[in-house]
Amino acid sequence: MRPTQTYVEQKFHEYNKLMFSNTLPHIPIRLSNSKTFFGALRFTRQRSPLGKVKYTDFQLVISTLFDHEETEIEDAIIHEMIHLYIYHHHLHDSSTHGPLFRRMMSDINQRFQRHVTISRRLTDQEMQSATTTMESIIGIANHRDGRILLTRCARTRVFEIHRAMKQMSEVSDIRWYVSSDSFFTRFPRTTVGKLYVIDPTLLRQHLSDAKPLQLVLQR
Ligand SMILES: [Zn+2]
Repeated sequence: MRPTQTYVEQKFHEYNKLMFSNTLPHIPIRLSNSKTFFGALRFTRQRSPLGKVKYTDFQLVISTLFDHEETEIEDAIIHEMIHLYIYHHHLHDSSTHGPLFRRMMSDINQRFQRHVTISRRLTDQEMQSATTTMESIIGIANHRDGRILLTRCARTRVFEIHRAMKQMSEVSDIRWYVSSDSFFTRFPRTTVGKLYVIDPTLLRQHLSDAKPLQLVLQR
């Protein structure tokens, strides 16, 4: 059979309850016609400035390109759900299919008479997940006309750009932050201190987790 979206969603909810005590988050489920994998768990890996890793934007992808036995499709869904369990709960495993993954897999196989495997025909592709480091160095300043200005730059350019901004007579009160909020990545990093006008309310929302950056300026 070839799974439909509703089928995968229904199985996900059923197994979440049955095998994972309903502790998995409800994540988007997508069908694809990929030749290279059958099931995949997509996610974004973010690293905060302090080095803490966070997993977000989970997506379960199932390929409908090939015809599989229903039990194989079910096992592939369960396989990806074990990955989701480990990432969602921030549990440590030494590799993608490390000892923890294998322990959970054999436990589920035993308790529910499943045949979840690690690869063979039902290979997955979690290695393709987006790995992004979203740390941004953000400079904020006030324009004389009341607008708020933002610049985003590489760490190595901060001092230079700070000095350049100090020279602008219409700009005052420059402060710097480190943020891992992906919102800021929409502003291209500048090497020349390009300034963008930003809405103060929007800025406040996205700056709430930011760390102030103290510049020690040498004269
Ligand atoms: Zn896997």
